Amino acid sequence: MTDRDGQAHLTKSRYLAGRQCPKRLWLTSYARELATAPEEFLEALFEAGTDVGFAAHRLFPGGVLVEERPWEHAQAVVRTRELMRNPDLPAIFEGAFEWERIRIRVDVLERLPDGAWGLREVKAATGVKEVHLDDVAVQQFVLEGSGLRIPSVELLHVNRDYVLGEDGIDWPAFFVRADLTSVCAARLAELPRLVEALHNVLGEPATPDVLPDHHCFSPYTCEFWEHCTRELPEDWVFHLPGLSPDRFQALRCQGIERISEVPETFPLSATQGRVREVHRTGRPCISSGLAFALVGLGPPAYYLDFEAMNPVLPVYPGTRPYQMIPFQWSLHHVGADGELTHAEFLANGRTDPRPSFAASLVDALNGGPEPILVYSAFERTQLRALADACPELAGGLGAIQARLRDLLPVVRRNIYAPAFRGSFSLKDVAPALAPQVTFDDLEEIAEGGVAAAAMVRIVGGAVDPGEEERLRKALLAYCKRDTFALVELHRALSAHGAQRRGGAAP
Ligand code: SF4
Repeated sequence: MTDRDGQAHLTKSRYLAGRQCPKRLWLTSYARELATAPEEFLEALFEAGTDVGFAAHRLFPGGVLVEERPWEHAQAVVRTRELMRNPDLPAIFEGAFEWERIRIRVDVLERLPDGAWGLREVKAATGVKEVHLDDVAVQQFVLEGSGLRIPSVELLHVNRDYVLGEDGIDWPAFFVRADLTSVCAARLAELPRLVEALHNVLGEPATPDVLPDHHCFSPYTCEFWEHCTRELPEDWVFHLPGLSPDRFQALRCQGIERISEVPETFPLSATQGRVREVHRTGRPCISSGLAFALVGLGPPAYYLDFEAMNPVLPVYPGTRPYQMIPFQWSLHHVGADGELTHAEFLANGRTDPRPSFAASLVDALNGGPEPILVYSAFERTQLRALADACPELAGGLGAIQARLRDLLPVVRRNIYAPAFRGSFSLKDVAPALAPQVTFDDLEEIAEGGVAAAAMVRIVGGAVDPGEEERLRKALLAYCKRDTFALVELHRALSAHGAQRRGGAAP
């Protein structure tokens, strides 16, 4: 969207993009096609934010929505002015304004006494963040520039302590109304200078020269990351696990771009040092302690993985916004004779899944001393929360916790291969060490966030029966693949450990 002179105008989201990075502002305004498409679960998060935005309208009964679409901004501005002239309207939703070539839509404009208006911004977050202050400040700048008097600014965010009752969501209790009037006023003074600087960026004939680094992830993960990093080497120093922004900048100042070029004198952690060694030699690095770290982990052993959702709008009585609700488990077992068996559970989601999830898991793992291998602390955390939610099963759930063994720290401390590319995620580590494992053929669901988003859609009744069946099959296939990957990873680690102990080259 550009104006008649060919220069793009600012919007609220462009203003925030520009505050993060001038290059992001320029690309988002003139070269949107270079962005990476958002992951499906991020789209689901965006939809959840929209749901929360609409839910907030219930706090302003009698309010009217400006229905014009984003590309009908001029009409939306006219419609907003019409609605403002009607003194009987207590609030306007999505009111449109333009000032200094900045176009905004305001979540809620609340009519106050004596011709004044309250600016109300709605967020699906559970608290006020720094970026929200920029967000409301630019809106107040435009509103006051447009001639409105704004003596009150509030951010309506989600109350993380709200607990859903039996009678549906109590909206006034669900939202917190945070008064930002004074903090916002303090920011207004710098707005003219910032706005001018961002207009200057938009007036530049070519993409501003900004190098990618940690700023690309704060406050948002930039959609141009793949574009901006496309020519950097595979072993770019940014991929050194746990490298702080300061250390990264120190390497950049020395002109060091590749991990393999990091000098011996540069301070690195033990893991980072191993990673440098791997990129220098091009061979995996396996510690002599790997075999020892695997002692007592079987087989025979179980391999366990959970999927969970955390909807912003709580679905089950007794739960809070964003509370993790486990809804699926997958369990592989390798016997002493090497036989591989599998069991699984997937909730229907019509009622709170936690009791049936917990009972079926206790049944499947009943008794026996065999270790239960997981990858990360997630399963342990969820078992603790389940024991609180289902006290009658606390004994059985506690016994499962006592048998959990986490392979992630074993990997982190003892092995690194070039194909990890700085990541210790199961999706990177398992295919690197056990090439028969792949997640590439899982078309519909191949990531935990997408699995959670699929279940939220099923629970919310947003899918027809055919689509629900398809999603359930995809969920089962995905979770089963995770525990299969864990089985194969364990086998590969055992083989590497045995080779290393025997002195053979890996
Ligand atoms: S990836 Fe980083 S440098 Fe590139 S546009 Fe985004 S924020 Fe700017």
